[in-house]
Amino acid sequence: MINRQRIVEEFTRLASIASPSFREGAISRYLVNRLGEMGGEVIMDAAGKQIGSESGNLIVSFPAAGKEGPPLMLSVHMDMVEPADGVEPVLNDDVFTSAGSTVLGADDKAGIAEIIEALEVVRERAIARGPVEVVITVCEEVGLLGAKHLDFSKIRSRRGLALDTSGVDLAIHRAPCANKLRFEIIGREAHAGIAPERGISAIEAAARAIERMKLGRIDEETTANLGTIRGGQAVNIVAKQVILEGEARSHDPAKLEDQTEHMIACFTAAARSMEKVIDGRTVAPEVRWEVISDYPMMHVPLDSPIVRLVSASARAIGHEVEIRAAGGGSDANIFNAHGIETLILGTGMTNVHTVDESVSVNDMVRVTELLVEVLRRA
Ligand SMILES: [Zn+2]
Repeated sequence: MINRQRIVEEFTRLASIASPSFREGAISRYLVNRLGEMGGEVIMDAAGKQIGSESGNLIVSFPAAGKEGPPLMLSVHMDMVEPADGVEPVLNDDVFTSAGSTVLGADDKAGIAEIIEALEVVRERAIARGPVEVVITVCEEVGLLGAKHLDFSKIRSRRGLALDTSGVDLAIHRAPCANKLRFEIIGREAHAGIAPERGISAIEAAARAIERMKLGRIDEETTANLGTIRGGQAVNIVAKQVILEGEARSHDPAKLEDQTEHMIACFTAAARSMEKVIDGRTVAPEVRWEVISDYPMMHVPLDSPIVRLVSASARAIGHEVEIRAAGGGSDANIFNAHGIETLILGTGMTNVHTVDESVSVNDMVRVTELLVEVLRRA
């Protein structure tokens, strides 16, 4: 039923267009034409102007064909990580890789090719389906910027699938919420050999803070990390400044809040513990921090209509879909926060965000078979 040659050609065209985040102009123009030719009504929202990308998000509506019902959203992102320039897809033994020095961009173009092929099959076989909204975001790879600025007033769907994870026969129904954290410790510089008592070491304050901090896997739902640290000027200067960046994630928003507060408290307590008297004045290092909500939690209940739709579709064609939790955030977190119950579906891509990224044609065909059945039953 799936046209292997057509999906190979579609993926090749998509993957041949370099589309790093913010530079999605060329792929966006291709998609506007391609989906328009297929009968989609294409809207580009204003996100591009707001975030400084060459393109906005695309919202492409395909009216019902032979069957009325609520619309189904299928979402993907059009941007890719670097290195992207000069990307050249190569097909060997049924597996796509890049020619070598770039990523392939199967993340997320495998998903785009699968959606296009599924819609082609449904059309040529005259399979009755309800309305479909294809949402193609920009700048997913740089903090879900497209989805965060998506014009949700243009989307009617209340359920959807985001094709954007590795694996096949796999759907993600839970993902954590996360905070990005930045801490700056400002001590006092002094000559380390002549007058160390006149200095307050920001490095020592950072060490004391980290020593008392819970990091790594906090519990089965929560993780935390300090990922970068930089500071100090020279070996003979008491370090004045240290900057640390980290994150916390949890499947429970209250635990995320607790962990974030805990990390802040460790820094402020460490700063107090460094208090000393210099020139008759009591001084302590100053701590500044910034907490940015990176993405909200998603949790689609296992008995929700979209889970039942995917499970029943898979069973009908002899696939068994595993539905499980994941540890990262994606556009689907944003869709769920806006009331569109969205599962993340595996597209077959592997080794994403590396130059060894690949996707097999068999896996793309398998995912497309599932999509066709989902469209038939939606
Ligand atoms: Zn992706």
